[in-house]
Amino acid sequence: MDMKTMFNLTYGLFVLTAAAEGKESGCIINTAGQVTVEPNQISITVNKANFTHDLIRAGGTFNLSILDETASFDTFRHFGFQSGREVDKFAGYESCERSANGLYYVTAGTNGYISASVKQTMDLGTHTLFIASVEDMEVLSQVPSATYAYYQSHIKPKPEKPKTAGKTVWRCVVCGYIYEGEELPADFICPLCKHPASDFEKVIL
Ligand code: FE
Repeated sequence: MDMKTMFNLTYGLFVLTAAAEGKESGCIINTAGQVTVEPNQISITVNKANFTHDLIRAGGTFNLSILDETASFDTFRHFGFQSGREVDKFAGYESCERSANGLYYVTAGTNGYISASVKQTMDLGTHTLFIASVEDMEVLSQVPSATYAYYQSHIKPKPEKPKTAGKTVWRCVVCGYIYEGEELPADFICPLCKHPASDFEKVIL
C-alpha cells in the first residue's frame, strides 16, 4: 500500500465561519463538498479542536467562503494558525461582510460563499462530519478556486535556504514550520497550524 496515494486526492480550501452565544470565529478547512443536489446539501468535516466546530454545534449554521487563487498566505495564517478560543479573529478584520443568516463571510481572496444549516452530524473521533442544507449562496468573482495543491505550490511561502549543511530538520508539509532536531516527538503538534507529527517530513539540509 502506497500512503502517498492520498496526496493524489484533490481538495478545495475554505474559510468556515460560525457564531453562537455572542462569539464569532472562523477556521480553514479543506473538507467540503456537495453531497446531494435535490435537496442541495453539502458536507463539511471539522476538527473538534477548532473553536468554530463548537460554534457550529451550538449555532447550527455556518458560512463556507470559497478561497480562490488570489488568496494570500495572511488569510491562511489569520484563520488557520491561531485559535478562536484565544483571539477574536473578526476584531478589526475588514475583509468580511454579513450574509442574510447574520454570519460573516470572507470577501478577500474568495470567489463565492455558501450559507448552510446543519441537518445531520456524525462523530468521527477527531472530527465531526456535518451534513447541511444550502440556504443561500453567491458568486463573488470568476477567479479559479484554490486547490490544496495550488496552496502548496503557489501560496505557502517557500522554505528558507538552509544555512547549515547536513543538519536534520522536520518540516510541516501544511504550513512549512521547521522543527529542528534529529527525531520529531510522535506527539508533536505544529505550533502554527496544529497538524500532527504525521504531517511532518524529514529534511536533511
Ligand atoms: Fe504546520
